[in-house]
Amino acid sequence: MLLTLTTTAAPATDLGYLLAKNPARLHTFDLAFGKAHVFYPEATPERCTAALMLEVDPVGLVRGRQGPAGEGGALEQYVNDRPYVASSFLSVAIARVLGSALGGRSKDRPELAQQAIPLEARVSVLPCRGGEGFLRRLFEPLGYEVAAQQHPLDETNPDWGSSRYFSVTLRATKRLADLLTHLYVLVPVLDDDKHYWVSHDEVEKLLRHGAGWLETHPEREAIARRYLKHQKSLARAALERLVIEEDPEEAAERPVRVEQEAELERPLSLDEQRRASVVSALKDSGAARVLDLGCGEGKLLKALLADRQFAEIVGMDVSLRSLEIAEEKLGMGAGGRLPDKQRERIRLLHGSLLYRDQRLAGFDAAAVVEVVEHLDAPRLAAFERALFEFERPGTIVLTTPNAEYNVKFAALPAGKFRHKDHRFEWTRAQFQGWAKGVAARFRYVARFAPVGPVDEQLGAPTQMAVFSQ
Ligand code: SAH
Repeated sequence: MLLTLTTTAAPATDLGYLLAKNPARLHTFDLAFGKAHVFYPEATPERCTAALMLEVDPVGLVRGRQGPAGEGGALEQYVNDRPYVASSFLSVAIARVLGSALGGRSKDRPELAQQAIPLEARVSVLPCRGGEGFLRRLFEPLGYEVAAQQHPLDETNPDWGSSRYFSVTLRATKRLADLLTHLYVLVPVLDDDKHYWVSHDEVEKLLRHGAGWLETHPEREAIARRYLKHQKSLARAALERLVIEEDPEEAAERPVRVEQEAELERPLSLDEQRRASVVSALKDSGAARVLDLGCGEGKLLKALLADRQFAEIVGMDVSLRSLEIAEEKLGMGAGGRLPDKQRERIRLLHGSLLYRDQRLAGFDAAAVVEVVEHLDAPRLAAFERALFEFERPGTIVLTTPNAEYNVKFAALPAGKFRHKDHRFEWTRAQFQGWAKGVAARFRYVARFAPVGPVDEQLGAPTQMAVFSQ
């Protein structure tokens, strides 16, 4: 996948400043789906071209993920056009690698970043569902001169007809940020691959980039419709990356499944006991509107749905894969078995516990079950402020492993955590020290309860705190 950006604005080599990439060097970045390289095939004062090349690793993309149900089957996961064509991966790379230029910022040439300059963008292979007509209808209203060359399906068999792949050149005098923004939004629209698990909130995020031009674009409905498609595929990773770009924690990289931990705890039926304790603490609080933060695959959500006291239930997780599984398991997807009455009570949100989130404000209670130990300790403060100070539910029910109990797990080597993604595991004193501090700082009262069989010396395997205001 190759995108080139050319300018003839003198001195053209200032493009290096606009992109914050020195024209004399090759710049390589590791992205979740492969590598991105930026280099300059030409750099003279009259004409300068920067190339963004992506090496998408299709095997890496599917590793560790479950195969898609039905459509395409396993082979398509590995053999597909993704490495070669411009798709949402290009958008992700633009955001990650050329982020300041996309945002219209330049440390060394701030005025130039705000100026319209002659620009030419060339995308070597752009899949255009909707053909050249749609391509033109997308870019021409924005003031681009469009040149497109369609490729045959098979060069040796011209009678097979044309493919949906085009080499595209766009020319305009624009701010570089505008050009990059248009590519960022419209390349995935043209590609229209089945790769979005898009909730309304992400759509808003993506379309924020449309501010100032999309509202008046004649094809805005088609653009929005394609974004809004509720679809899934291997390239879902791209969307996760878009969120992560604004939410720089790498949490979505983390393993979603908690089998290793579950395996250890299974003989104690700890998972069920934990859920029962949390549900009963939430019930006792009298809550009707509840959050499950870090909801994972949605087992607690299911238990909450089964109780009519909980009139509004919101699950939130940073992992899109987990949300998909939760959606599936709860029967919430299109054609799912969840009756409308139940469906109205529950919503899933993609987000992070480390950021203030207006959508989570004003709830009666929140559950945070086996999640804090997945947060980097230095980021706990951000979590505390977002939840206890900003979102401020009436009651917070929080559980975490009791590290003291680990010696009872024969299969767990000494000093090891129950799950490899855990950043820490607290003793009872550590947990209670933390929880009391948080309660005091944010005007909550904390009480503690053991979950699971209590060992006289070591305590219970899970510790729970209930914070109330
Ligand atoms: N509460 C569930 C899942 C626990 S596993 C249960 O008890 O079964 C931890 C979950 O926290 C994972 O689903 C993980 O994706 C999520 N998570 C980790 N960091 C997060 C963050 N910063 N914001 C939101 N969710 C996060």
